[in-house]
Amino acid sequence: MTDCIFCKIVKGEIPAKEVARSASAVAFHDLNPQAPVHVLVVPTTHFHNAAATESDDGERVLAATLRLAVRVARELGLADAGYRLVMNVGAQGGQSVAHLHVHVLGGRQMTWPPG
Ligand code: AMP
Repeated sequence: MTDCIFCKIVKGEIPAKEVARSASAVAFHDLNPQAPVHVLVVPTTHFHNAAATESDDGERVLAATLRLAVRVARELGLADAGYRLVMNVGAQGGQSVAHLHVHVLGGRQMTWPPG
């Protein structure tokens, strides 16, 4: 999508601190980190959010995005201590950017319930 900020990051049109890339997803540091490690993993194709992935294509994209999230968590040294994966969906879910993304949060003890 032309005016989507994460599509622009995927294409290298705006800068981001890229951590990893696979054939179908890109991982980069969040601009406003909420934990010592806070990385976003986004698919290279535009899906609004997880609610828009109820299709064969969507299933593949979701799986590939989660796969890169798990890989990044391991490569950043979070696997032993544990970490949190978050997908905000829609306004009440706290989604502020309308391109599917997984937050990888780690490096501190997470609490529950989330805010
Ligand atoms: P969400 O609120 O779940 O939609 O998450 C969107 C996330 O994108 C927030 O944590 C923002 O800090 C982050 N964000 C927004 N713009 C950028 C950007 N240009 N580069 C990196 N992270 C961004």
